[in-house]
Amino acid sequence: MIAYIEPYFLDNDAEATSAVTAAVLSTDGVSESLNIQGEILCGGAAADIAGRDFGGMNCVKPLAVVRPVGPEDIAGAVKAALRSDKLTVAARGNGHSINGQAMAEGGLVVDMSSTAENHFEVGFCGDTAYVDVSGGALWENVLKRCVSEYGLAPRSWTDYLGLTVGGTLSNAGVSGQAFRYGPQTSNVTELDVITGNGDVVTCSEVENSELFFSVLGGLGQFGIITRARVLLQPAPDMVRWIRVVYTEFDEFTRDAEWLVSQKDESSSFDYVEGFVFVNGDDPVNGWPTVPLHPDHDFDPTRLPQSSGSVLYCLELCLHYRDSDSNSTVDKRVERLIERLRFIEGLRFEVDLSYVDFLLRVKRSEEIAKEIGTWETPHPWLNLFVSKRDIGEFNRTVFKELVKNGVNGPMLVYPLLRSRWDDRMSVEVPEGEIFYIVALLRFVPPCTKASSVEKLVAQNQEIVHWCVRNGTDFKLYLPHYKSREEWIRHFGNRWSRFVDRKAMFDPMAILSPGQKIFNRSP
Ligand code: FAD
Repeated sequence: MIAYIEPYFLDNDAEATSAVTAAVLSTDGVSESLNIQGEILCGGAAADIAGRDFGGMNCVKPLAVVRPVGPEDIAGAVKAALRSDKLTVAARGNGHSINGQAMAEGGLVVDMSSTAENHFEVGFCGDTAYVDVSGGALWENVLKRCVSEYGLAPRSWTDYLGLTVGGTLSNAGVSGQAFRYGPQTSNVTELDVITGNGDVVTCSEVENSELFFSVLGGLGQFGIITRARVLLQPAPDMVRWIRVVYTEFDEFTRDAEWLVSQKDESSSFDYVEGFVFVNGDDPVNGWPTVPLHPDHDFDPTRLPQSSGSVLYCLELCLHYRDSDSNSTVDKRVERLIERLRFIEGLRFEVDLSYVDFLLRVKRSEEIAKEIGTWETPHPWLNLFVSKRDIGEFNRTVFKELVKNGVNGPMLVYPLLRSRWDDRMSVEVPEGEIFYIVALLRFVPPCTKASSVEKLVAQNQEIVHWCVRNGTDFKLYLPHYKSREEWIRHFGNRWSRFVDRKAMFDPMAILSPGQKIFNRSP
């Protein structure tokens, strides 16, 4: 079937078209054949899939959505764009970006979900297990298959697993295991990538290494990941999930930093995260967000009189096997927890399966869908802030600017720079210890657009405060409007980023939604 796409002439909702072997793209009078085995969707059908993202604050019209069968289709789309004057191509993972990063206005969006099942093969390199998965696979499905079929699991995760392999590898992929194993980008050893030149390339640390490290944390700028080799480890059966509360930020950070800095794995927990919450009974922002079970009660009389507007919670996990006795697990937990200086009586814990723990945010997703806050805008802000500046950040941002909460989690926990490879494209602050800060704002249904704008403005105020204050920080999942800001973001690695772009996507076709480079005619 031939799909004839006339973006600049047609403005109606063209019927979704299924093109089995060939489509003809016509842009600016240039007609070229596009050999696509998969589907091509146009007009309203394309906008339904790729016109909006999780952030819900951008709405653009793609020319078409390509649902590839395999890498050849993706290469075909890139080559068609290369032959045109202005076409761009954006890979779309699960569209969970906040600021339109996976969008392509008037361009081709490659819906990676159609390739999700393309790879799933577990192998070994010496003693090390790995799995080859599609760039379009959801981490949730990678987890389920690895555990149920092989008793193995990737080592480094994100909190929420409804994200794609290619999407998180294009950023970093961070959760409570990253202090030990590094981000997800540090846990892949080989990739198949379609570059902006339309080449299909296998790359690793030793083969086409410049492309490999460019793509990791590369914001989709250098290539589309179609396969990733992800390192695995034996999956534990169970997790003891613990939360302990602090009033003083200094004590919270001292304990968190001590835990993430232990060289010996048995001297720390297997997962370390933390969050800030409001010192009050607000059900969305306050005390009730801490307990892990309906039977748990947060007893505020345990709090010292001196407690401030916000409190801090360290979130920890210990992995264990079904064969470990309760008393063995208790002993291991007590040995680790005894040196932490949290408030007595404000400790909560539950035992659950490893898979249920990793899927914990799915329940929050279901609730948000029920009450309508999954579909509303999400003006989120994610930053990495150095250990040097996190105290000042706490005083100004947590204790003042967002002291009433953000209607969602406010994460803050330390990571180690030595677990991040400098050759990757992702930017982190200087210094060995830095914190991820995530203000995950949820907006009630029917909130006025002007109120959402105020939240975006508050995010900008925080970023501007960091800049004015000389804070050593980087935006995570960055979003900037001007080239100057991108140059500041990359600092002395900007020229490397530009050189890599010239090498792998010289016409600036890929991931236009990041708004870093303009398409070359
Ligand atoms: P998309 O949003 O679809 O794409 C993101 C970028 O990557 C775009 O530029 C896109 O063009 C590009 N891209 C997509 N697929 C590919 C590919 N195969 N090859 C090359 N480029 C590609 N992040 C964390 O690190 N830790 C967390 O705990 C975490 N939790 C989250 C929870 C929720 C509820 C949400 C919405 C996001 C969370 N994130 C987290 C952020 C997440 O990492 C980003 O949204 C990321 O972009 C992945 O989403 P996605 O797969 O939908 O990618």
